[in-house]
Amino acid sequence: MKRKAVYAGSFDPITKGHLDIVRRALGVFDEIVVGVAYNSAKETGLFTAVERVAMIREALTDLADRVEVDAFDGLLVDYCDRIGAHAIIRGLRAVSDFEYEFQMAMMNRHLNDRVETYFMTASEAYFYTASRLVKEVASLGGNVSGLVPAGVHRALVEKLARKPS
Ligand code: ADP
Repeated sequence: MKRKAVYAGSFDPITKGHLDIVRRALGVFDEIVVGVAYNSAKETGLFTAVERVAMIREALTDLADRVEVDAFDGLLVDYCDRIGAHAIIRGLRAVSDFEYEFQMAMMNRHLNDRVETYFMTASEAYFYTASRLVKEVASLGGNVSGLVPAGVHRALVEKLARKPS
């Protein structure tokens, strides 16, 4: 049986830190589903779920045979059940991620004991890379090209130019 894991998050937008986690996770699991969490009642991100999925697919084309990109609404553990995944991957950066991630993992276990959460750390090169910070810096005119894939950088520049400040 194939070991399938869901790497879930908002990915608004995907960064090189996220991509590093996907590549590392493929060393442990046979198949990774990058699951973009979104709220169908209300789009809250800078990018829509459809845009986020398209950017992730583009960044991972070389791994398309083992990586699937999808968007899901509702509970992550229910999504795991629907697609037959028994593992959730989450990335850990600094200690500050720990409390939130630990709570989420415990809650997900409470909701569904069949799904296990695995934590992975990205390369130290991306230890401080976060989507929120990338958006903030880009909106102030800072150069984030080294932290996100080229397609995301282009989309960020375009989106922020159109966004009313
Ligand atoms: P969230 O919805 O929790 O904000 P994100 O889209 O920010 O999720 O990220 C998805 C997952 O990837 C989270 O577990 C987050 O901690 C992790 N992550 C984000 N950036 C990095 C990074 N640079 N290195 C390692 N893990 C990361």
